[in-house]
Amino acid sequence: MQTEIPVHEALRIVRQHAKPIAETERVPLAAARGRVLAEDLAALCDHPDVANTAVDGYAVRAADTEGASRENPAVLRLVGESPAGRPFSGALGPGEAVAVYTGSPLPEGADAVVAVEDTRREGERVLVFKPASAKDIRPRGDDFKKGEVLLKKGDLLTPGRIGLAAAMGHAELPVVRRPRVGILSTGDEVVAPGEPLPHGGVYDSNSYAVAALVEAAGGEPVTLGRARDALPELKDQLAAGGDLDLLLTSGGVSMGEYDLVRRLLAEEGEIYFWKILQRPGHPPIFGRYRDTLVFGLPGNPVSAMVVFFLYGRPMLFAMLGRTDPPYRRIRVRTGDFFKGAKGKVAFRRAALFYRPDGGFVAKSAGNQSSGAIRTMATGHALVAVPPDRNLNPGDEAWAIPFDPEALGAPGLPEQF
Ligand code: AMP
Ligand code: MG
Repeated sequence: MQTEIPVHEALRIVRQHAKPIAETERVPLAAARGRVLAEDLAALCDHPDVANTAVDGYAVRAADTEGASRENPAVLRLVGESPAGRPFSGALGPGEAVAVYTGSPLPEGADAVVAVEDTRREGERVLVFKPASAKDIRPRGDDFKKGEVLLKKGDLLTPGRIGLAAAMGHAELPVVRRPRVGILSTGDEVVAPGEPLPHGGVYDSNSYAVAALVEAAGGEPVTLGRARDALPELKDQLAAGGDLDLLLTSGGVSMGEYDLVRRLLAEEGEIYFWKILQRPGHPPIFGRYRDTLVFGLPGNPVSAMVVFFLYGRPMLFAMLGRTDPPYRRIRVRTGDFFKGAKGKVAFRRAALFYRPDGGFVAKSAGNQSSGAIRTMATGHALVAVPPDRNLNPGDEAWAIPFDPEALGAPGLPEQF
């Protein structure tokens, strides 16, 4: 067992033990958001499948409209229309025009379109005020061609990728089975929200916060409830979880007499490491209980969330074979004092403010005690304070946003 290991070493060890999940399943498009593609996906058709028009107007022969102007319009004969879904069945001859609408297939014989704004209809005649061009024609396969691989194994299925998969002709998508992640809170003092709070009791926030983080990382949380600080009870509750890819416990990993998770792993499994050189989140334990990987999160609510975010999330990404990074770092300027820790990296909760001239300022999200969960609601990011130093206002630092997509100033630019 290793102990007091640096952050990058802990990350290496958890990744090394997180085996990719081999089972896949097929889900309908409507249930695919947030899932991870299990195979490369090729287009089943060309898109568009025939050349079509990007504007409402008339399909014509370019040669018939050469030199056309307001003063000297080209006069064409309207021979039909080609609404989307009901293509014009004939072929367009010299001096003829076919009315088309955005997305209409281009009739045979036509090689250009003219927008309706540049024409006037007079009965069966169409006056064209401008030379028609091919620029408003979308050629067949303009977007993609049949057989092209557009989505890759390991891609997270975002709304844009789901739209693309649908356009490619797929009704169902092969996805990786979600990792089943058991979540168990330990502690005699821990009670479920909604119950009366006994003297000295604490509401179980870890189960819910961690379950939400598991879900956000693409896992399936399996709630195992709360275990008292007693080994036999803990084992019973674990047995109830069934097959799990990962078990997360909270509490019971520090030095206290009642700390059990450590004993559980030591007696019926293996400990890969215990304690990471960071704050908050110094005491986590990682190992296995029988055949199940176990990450023992600290009990303090901030520590539990920070440790899952930094180590549990990358583990789930590795199990899912996700190719997007579990988190990103951005360079920020500090707007407050951030206290460091001796021999440890300190991860302080910060709110990020976007500066109109570019970049971000990180302000403290509030009380930095590992028991003060409020900062997990007011903060957007962790600011990493290197070991043995503090950050002063105006210093540069790395920040890891909880949700990189939530960065930036809100809304559209003013001129829109
Ligand atoms: P422990 O790691 O068990 O020593 O717990 C550290 C601190 O976290 C104690 O103040 C606990 O009361 C608190 N704590 C433990 N488990 C939870 C939980 N599930 N939800 C909220 N706080 C907890
Ligand atoms: Mg405890």
